[in-house]
Amino acid sequence: MDLTSFSAGAQHIAGRVVTGSGDERFRVVNPADGSTVEEVVLASPADVDAAVDAARAALPEWSRATPGTRAEALGRLAGVLADHAEEFARVETAQTGKPIKLSTEFDVPGTIDNTAFFAGAARNLEGKAAGEYSGDHTSYVRREAIGVVGSISPWNYPLQMAAWKILPAIAAGNTIVLKPAELTPLTSLMFAAACTEAGIPDGVVNVITGAGRTAGEHLVSHPAVSMVSFTGSTAVGKRVAELATATVKRTHLELGGKAPFVVFDDADLEAAVHGAVAASLINSGQDCTAATRAYVQRPLYDAFVAGVADLYAAVRLGDPRNPQTDLGPLVSFAHRDRVAGFVERARRDGATVVTGGGTGTKGHDGSDLTLGAYHQPTLITGAAQDSEVVQGEIFGPVLVVLPFDSDEEGLRLANDTPYGLAASAWTRDVHRSLRATREIAAGCVWVNDHIPIISEMPHGGYKASGYGKDMSQYSLDEYTQVKHVMYDTTAVARKDWHRTIFGDR
Ligand code: NAD
Repeated sequence: MDLTSFSAGAQHIAGRVVTGSGDERFRVVNPADGSTVEEVVLASPADVDAAVDAARAALPEWSRATPGTRAEALGRLAGVLADHAEEFARVETAQTGKPIKLSTEFDVPGTIDNTAFFAGAARNLEGKAAGEYSGDHTSYVRREAIGVVGSISPWNYPLQMAAWKILPAIAAGNTIVLKPAELTPLTSLMFAAACTEAGIPDGVVNVITGAGRTAGEHLVSHPAVSMVSFTGSTAVGKRVAELATATVKRTHLELGGKAPFVVFDDADLEAAVHGAVAASLINSGQDCTAATRAYVQRPLYDAFVAGVADLYAAVRLGDPRNPQTDLGPLVSFAHRDRVAGFVERARRDGATVVTGGGTGTKGHDGSDLTLGAYHQPTLITGAAQDSEVVQGEIFGPVLVVLPFDSDEEGLRLANDTPYGLAASAWTRDVHRSLRATREIAAGCVWVNDHIPIISEMPHGGYKASGYGKDMSQYSLDEYTQVKHVMYDTTAVARKDWHRTIFGDR
């Protein structure tokens, strides 16, 4: 089956590809050269309603299907995704500009592994043991699906984010309507087509392509949607939570990040330098967990800055389709200008741009970088802790390095932003690492590494980075509700506890 049927329409509703009924068209652009990848008709509120209706209609059968049946369907889905791995990687790179080696070796295999994980997890919903806790009753819990989930995803890892939203929701027996980011809807539509190909019943997974303000807000406010799961910026997350509150929906928010990278003076310097380069440049820095603020203890500071600057200069910018390219363009020209604005304002405010800071002209492969949304890896020092470049989410290939003296100061600075998604500590001292992992307020703290994720472990934020977990068994808690069922075991009409309301013992 050809999963790229989005050419025929950009909505996947009730197992079918349909054209949106809205009058707005949207050009999905390849940011490497500004060419058109696809032109789609955006969803109207009526399309959102149709998708929610389809999800509602599919809910009774899917939520009552045995865990084994759902697991089998997800297992088949993992197979379909693997069969189309190359196609997914190609389209993901075209719509985002991410290097093909990242799509091929990270995004697509990560999504297949996640699917295989949730096939197993579907059969492992857990709860407290049934028992006679009162002495007079048998109690047990049922873990039940919530209903129709409305999900909204961002553009940085379109395929993985679609998978992170869809898989735990449907593994737990919910049905879903996903709205991917306008810029990058194509692999989410392909994922929905793969679900249909895998025999997941029509209406269980629906994808609508639409704008945030119209289709997104309509979905989040829809009275038949019982839960909203959102991944995106903190500003939009707040708006989504506000809208969801009006109809008392459960919310799950995965928001922005500004991950600190703390290097203590006993760290392996070479490992820290290589780690900082990879963790700050992954996906051109458009990664919510990317290393963005390196705090380096004074004795290692100069060598760390020099080491990162050297490696940044060796990074190969170029055509993302070239397997040798390390760094492609940012997702759009508007976003590239936004990133450049952060760098310019930092420079104006007195920070030093040690390397990078521009857009570049010629790629390692001779490609003309001026045609795309490129931005060079950029290393900044001398910024103030309270400056925009240290506090705000830049979401680009920009690393700020700051020195610290005592361990207490390093950990205090690491915690000094509104965000709390991820962080890393670099040290060979077990006591320092234990202290750092305890003190840093973030949903994930790595020690001597920064970025790896695995399907078995939870991903989610503290503080303004949101709440709720993606991936892992923990995500199933988000997408289920627990019901206490209590049976009387005494069979007496006048129960002992009634005396507290009327009569005597
Ligand atoms: P964004 O917040 O601009 O958009 C995210 C999604 O929300 C898009 O689908 C968009 O169409 C939709 N949207 C916009 N306005 C809306 C509204 N008023 N109502 C409903 N939906 C609306 O984010 P982005 O620029 O696409 O993605 C980058 C952001 O995502 C960064 O802040 C990044 O940190 C965050 N992110 C977080 C995680 C995580 O796990 N915490 C993962 C990936 C990305």
